[in-house]
Amino acid sequence: MQKRIAIIGGGIVGATAAYYLSQLPGGQNVKVTLFDDGVGQATSAAAGIISPWLSKRRNQQWYRLAKAGADLYPELIHDAKLGTDVYQQTGTIVTRSDDSDLEALFALAQERRQDAATMGDVSALSATEVQAKVPLLTTSHPGVFISGGARVDGAALVAGLLKQATSQNLTIRRERVTLDNQGNVVTSVGLKQFDRVIVAAGAWVKELLAPLGVLADVRPQKGQLIELAVKDFESQERMPVVMPEGERDFIPFGHGKLLVGATHDDEGKFDLKATPEVTADLLGSAQRLMSGLTAESVTATRVGTRAYTRDFAPFFGPVPEHEAILVASGLGSSGLTTGVQIGRLLAGSALYGGTPDWSDYEKPLTTYLATSAE
Ligand SMILES: Cc1cc2nc3c(=O)[nH]c(=O)nc-3n(C[C@H](O)[C@H](O)[C@H](O)COP(=O)(O)OP(=O)(O)OC[C@H]3O[C@@H](n4cnc5c(N)ncnc54)[C@H](O)[C@@H]3O)c2cc1C
Repeated sequence: MQKRIAIIGGGIVGATAAYYLSQLPGGQNVKVTLFDDGVGQATSAAAGIISPWLSKRRNQQWYRLAKAGADLYPELIHDAKLGTDVYQQTGTIVTRSDDSDLEALFALAQERRQDAATMGDVSALSATEVQAKVPLLTTSHPGVFISGGARVDGAALVAGLLKQATSQNLTIRRERVTLDNQGNVVTSVGLKQFDRVIVAAGAWVKELLAPLGVLADVRPQKGQLIELAVKDFESQERMPVVMPEGERDFIPFGHGKLLVGATHDDEGKFDLKATPEVTADLLGSAQRLMSGLTAESVTATRVGTRAYTRDFAPFFGPVPEHEAILVASGLGSSGLTTGVQIGRLLAGSALYGGTPDWSDYEKPLTTYLATSAE
């Protein structure tokens, strides 16, 4: 009989897992059903910066995971036949006002470059050179340029991956589901049994695992960003992402579209309403570095819910004592970067079973998952 795998959640983790389940050897013997209602999805709200190398986080497991995610992107995009409108290595620029800060950042970039080929070339840019690369900016500090940095359109990536998978072994159900205390999926048309269930439900993992008596250390955080209509420079499709010191990040997507964001609002939790004051604040950030922007330049606002754990690190793998259930959550503010690698690993584990050793990438799952009785 064909093996049946369910995925709950169609963000970056669920969609990447679905894609690899349709491509990995043995996938043709598996029937995959993905349940997703899309509400609050972080992936489709995200800014889309893929550039983990200059992070000062001391968690080496996180760094290895994020680096592996950044490394995987070019191959995934190529294999899934997706274009530069979805993902492009436009480069990223991080600016600093203080000379010694800039030198330290440049030294860190050179050090990280030693074992991170995807970073590409690293160079120090004067303020004028930053503006030459990003003509949208009317003022800038000097910065460090990383040619392999990228921007990804999360919604388009997920759509592309799911399209590929549906042409193979995937069925998509656009609905909200729950789990019962046996790990069966409770759908609008009754209880469904699967051989494996991948719970890739972002900030909603806590409520999904609760019926199993599993308490997940996951909290929601509201994130908001804005889309601006800006001058359509011919070079804009290749314009680098800019992460200016003390301001929001700027992500040029070509054809006169610029994203500015994002906020980190712990109090906002699962709230999905765009706040006008936040929109004004994000616009203000852009106006300080770009002339000619007005409230009319804002063409859209996006809100999504990030998932965080207590130590800000993601977790993924088989749920202890419920080995047929695999889970991933807590991807925080860098989940577009780590999520592809997590989705790929989960797909392999769901397909081939066994006890994976992912200690290179994460702490034991018991760090984040407890039984309700504990
Ligand atoms: C504003 C913002 C900006 C960001 N910018 C970046 C960035 O520049 N770079 C970066 O690397 N990361 C960024 N992130 C982080 C990144 O987007 C997330 O960490 C990542 O997308 C999380 O992916 P996920 O698949 O775990 O969860 P999600 O993308 O949230 O997907 C979970 C899905 O599960 C569905 N779901 C939940 N419960 C159920 C249920 N019971 N039944 C059915 N479906 C359910 C939800 O509707 C959702 O579609 C940003 C996030 C936000 C919010």
